Formats: sequence, C-alpha cells, structure tokens
Amino acid sequence: MAKELFAIFGNPVSHSKSPLMHNLSFRGLEYDACYTRYLLHDGLRLKEMFLKLGLKGVNVTVPHKEAAFNACDEVDAFSQKIGVVNTIVKRNGKLYGYNTDAPGFLKAITEFKDIKTVLFLGAGGTAQSTSVILRDAGYDVTLLNRSKERLEKYKKEGFTTYTYETFSPKRYDLIINMTSAGLEDNHLPAPEEILDVIIPKAKACVDVIYGKETPFLKFAKNHNISTKDGSDMLLYQGIIAFEYFTNNTYTFDEIKPYMQKAFML
Ligand code: NDP
Repeated sequence: MAKELFAIFGNPVSHSKSPLMHNLSFRGLEYDACYTRYLLHDGLRLKEMFLKLGLKGVNVTVPHKEAAFNACDEVDAFSQKIGVVNTIVKRNGKLYGYNTDAPGFLKAITEFKDIKTVLFLGAGGTAQSTSVILRDAGYDVTLLNRSKERLEKYKKEGFTTYTYETFSPKRYDLIINMTSAGLEDNHLPAPEEILDVIIPKAKACVDVIYGKETPFLKFAKNHNISTKDGSDMLLYQGIIAFEYFTNNTYTFDEIKPYMQKAFML
C-alpha cells in the first residue's frame, strides 16, 4: 500500500486524465503515493469524504471548485481573491487550498510573445480565475459572451464586457475560446461574422478544449494564425498541483517529462 493517497473529486470524474498524469509522475519520480478518482455528488460533503478516505491531497473539478474553497481551513492569496480552489493538501491536520488552473493557463500562454490585449470568448467558470490572473500579470482582458447574465460579475470587477449585440470589434493580440463550444459539437464560440473580423488581426488563438482540433482552431488555422489547444493548460495545472502535493520536493521541469507521458498514451 502506498504511503500517501491522492484523488480527484468531481462529477463527472470518469473522463479525468489526472489519475494517469499523477500516477505516472509518482512512479517516474519514485515517490511513494497513489492517485485515484472519486465521484463526489455533494460538494458540502467534500471535507468529510477527504478525511474519511484518509487522503493527503485532492484535485477538485466541476462542479465542486467553490465548495472546495469553502472546505479549506486556509487558502492562498490568489484563491482568496477568486473564491475558487482546485487543489487541496492536508498538512498537520489542516486543509490548505490552492488554485493551479489559473497559473497553469498563464504559463501555457507565455510562449506567445508581444501580447498585450486578450479577448476571452466565454465567461464561465474557467474564465473566472484565468481572467483575473491575466489581468494581474498585466494583460488587458476583454470578455465577449453569448448571454448577458454571465457578464455581470466581470463588469462589476471592472472588465470590459460585450455580448454579440453590443460588440464593437477592435484588434486583439490573443483570442481565447473559453467556452465549451466545439467540445461535443461543431459550433464556433462566437458568430462567424465576428470571428471573420477579429481573427485575421490576431497574433495567436488558443482553445482551452484539449485533445481535438475544434472548429475554432480550424477557423484560426485557415487564417494562418498560430494556435494551441488546452493540453498545456491541463498539464501545467497538474504539475503545479504535484508541486504542492509533494511539498516542492521536485521542480516543475523534473515533473514535466513524467506527467507529459499521459498525453502520449
Ligand atoms: P461553463 O459551463 O462554466 O461556461 C460555459 C461558457 O461557454 C459560457 O460562457 C457559455 O455562454 C459558453 N458557451 C457554451 N456553449 C456555447 C456556444 N455554443 N456558443 C457560444 N458560447 C457558448 O464552462 P467552463 O468554464 O467550466 O468550461 C469551459 C471550457 O473549458 C470547457 O470546454 C472545458 O472542457 C474547458 N476546460 C479546459 C481545461 C484545461 O485544463 N484545458 C480546464 C477546465 C475547463 P452562455 O453564458 O451564453 O451560456
């Protein structure tokens, strides 16, 4: 039996790559631990289940990231700011919460140089943490979303927001699909008439969806724009979580080759 046990909590959770990513890294780095998945129906029971299962740490996915924030005894400054936690580690009987989605995403886009203005297509849960970290890092972030309702909280936080009806196109260096359009359908994340105007002027386009070429990425490639999917975002959030799980025993670059193998199988 492994010395330390980790898990991913979510609903659904069967599709998650996290067990493979972390177990490959534990094995590769000869760290005595095991990572499993747990279908959590009720977010209010997160802490209870964490303790009952004798876990050392968890990743938390949809729809429990806000419940995870509430379950922690302490959270880091960034998680405090956004109210969302996706990584919990138990130390000295206390649960410590972190957000690794946002720094993972920030790192994933740093390969694109000379980026100042960023347009988010979509304003859901993933946009919440990533918009704040990008703004903190000095990017000028604008959000364009199909429905008006989801934009309200971004507006309150001082972001420039548009619906399709109010949008007046400008030049954006980086355009990111933050919606689920293209995940299980063939939809573009915004009307073609809008994309036709903004995409040819962009320096790069990124999709948070991973493992497939979405209609959005195809559209950008047809305009000869640099693209990348969400694989690095997923990989980097996992590496940062692994650093927390192992109390920084390994560096990012030591973990990367092992965790990356999960994307090659
Ligand atoms: P949410 O359900 O919180 O938000 C969905 C967003 O997508 C909303 O803004 C919604 O707009 C918009 N949307 C959905 N369908 C369409 C459509 N057909 N046209 C236009 N807009 C649409 O989703 P999440 O933020 O949790 O997830 C978004 C994506 O991010 C998913 O595809 C998910 O797989 C991916 N993801 C990737 C990660 C990675 O590591 N690479 C990590 C986490 C998520 P509206 O308000 O109008 O409904």
